[in-house]
Amino acid sequence: MQIRCQNCHKPFALSKEVVISALDSMAAENLRHYNASCPHCRRVNRISMQELQRAAPDWERQRGEREEETE
Ligand SMILES: [Zn+2]
Repeated sequence: MQIRCQNCHKPFALSKEVVISALDSMAAENLRHYNASCPHCRRVNRISMQELQRAAPDWERQRGEREEETE
């Protein structure tokens, strides 16, 4: 997903793997925002779970499938 830094306004990308692991850790820790640090200015951008899920719409289903496997 593409993010525009709230500090320096430069765009940067989060790969789908990063988005999915962010969603996984947010679900595990009950967080509502992911802190993505900008590669240009290193400031942290808060990204809502909703935005991340928009970038990975199949995450919730995949997560259910992964949980079934472990049980
Ligand atoms: Zn920045």
